[in-house]
Amino acid sequence: MTDLYDRHKAVLPDWLALYYRRPIEITHGEGRHVWDAEGRKYLDFFGGILTTMTAHALPEVTKAVAEQAGRIIHSSTLYLNRPMVDLAERVAALSGIPDARVFFTTSGTEANDAALLLATAHRRSNQILAMRNSYHGRSFTAVGITGNASWSPTSLSPLQTLYVHGGVRSRGPYAALSDAEFTAACVADLRDMLGQGRGGVAALIAEPIQGVGGFTSPPDGLYAAFKEVLDEHGILWISDEVQTGWGRTGEHFWGWQAHAASGPPDILTFAKGIGNGMSIGGVVARAEVMNGLDANSISTFGGSPVTMAAGLANLTYLLEHDLQGNARRVGGLLIERLRAVCAQAPAVREVRGRGLMIGVELVDPGTGGPDPRAAAAVLEAARERGLLLGKGGGHDTSVLRVAPPLSLTVAEAEEGASILEEALRSA
Ligand code: PLP
Repeated sequence: MTDLYDRHKAVLPDWLALYYRRPIEITHGEGRHVWDAEGRKYLDFFGGILTTMTAHALPEVTKAVAEQAGRIIHSSTLYLNRPMVDLAERVAALSGIPDARVFFTTSGTEANDAALLLATAHRRSNQILAMRNSYHGRSFTAVGITGNASWSPTSLSPLQTLYVHGGVRSRGPYAALSDAEFTAACVADLRDMLGQGRGGVAALIAEPIQGVGGFTSPPDGLYAAFKEVLDEHGILWISDEVQTGWGRTGEHFWGWQAHAASGPPDILTFAKGIGNGMSIGGVVARAEVMNGLDANSISTFGGSPVTMAAGLANLTYLLEHDLQGNARRVGGLLIERLRAVCAQAPAVREVRGRGLMIGVELVDPGTGGPDPRAAAAVLEAARERGLLLGKGGGHDTSVLRVAPPLSLTVAEAEEGASILEEALRSA
């Protein structure tokens, strides 16, 4: 019997967003499965937390980590290491950003902080546009631009943030609009905000599909329409690809490509999946923006050889096995299967998503409003049956999030959908 449950409360903060009445102690994993300290096996439909991008304990990544750790773990950021430059070249080429430079960090939060630093320095302004209901990380700066109040524990911020409509479609004044009307309304909102004469704005930061915000996608092309307005003012566009990057959405390698008429963003941030669980984050920007800082800067552990070796092996596996294509194919089947399952469940309002980034939104069938308690009950019921799921935050705590490793097989997709069906029935 694990004793961690009794011990953790005495040493860890109360605000840690742990799942389950008795949080699980995970001990090991393989492929799309993990095991707990009591020997129970689970199908991991949340891929860690969208971090296990290819597979748990992928031999290629484990080997690369062991070999690199056997040579040297950390040499200092003051010297070069080969895996860092190799990975920077690969990421720069994949980013779509011309004349791209890459700066590695150790988390998505730090990647967004770095992006904000670059944008504010480039534009000499501390005003930022962010999306309502967004989530960008845990640091003082990142929570300050996070629109999702339940993940933003302070209203103080070193930046002046203005929140724009567009990330969420299912509620608010624009809920009943068509795609074209919604896009036009959001663009008008943005224009109105910029027309209020607040002075220069540095950047708009946005998740192409909101992650913590319940896997809600804006209409394709929304950010291309925004970009036209931003360009009129010289405002930079930061695409936070921490959840949407590396082919997870199936159709596109990056989330911004659903808005490709705009061309690439000025700045792109990434993290989560690239390290397959090793702590890699980073920011990509064209040289003019990246090189705009006047002072020296480092990330002591960003670009560390062991994590970079993991990232290289993981990315190579992803590309050689066309896991983006697998996310499109298996994700397409899974969405269909979940829609069929959920058609019989009065508590499900919508199954939505792209590739292997799928949201199942639960409502109270009586009121039609969000039902976070139902989502918590389904999570528990699925866990009892051997399936791990995620859920959203704030207003979207009633959204179940499905984001397994991109190597998910058809049989595993079927198995997970069947367990979810039983969990919905029993919860
Ligand atoms: N940006 C987005 C879109 C995220 O979903 C997250 C984490 O969930 C972050 C940034 C912060 O990343 P990290 O937890 O690695 O700091």
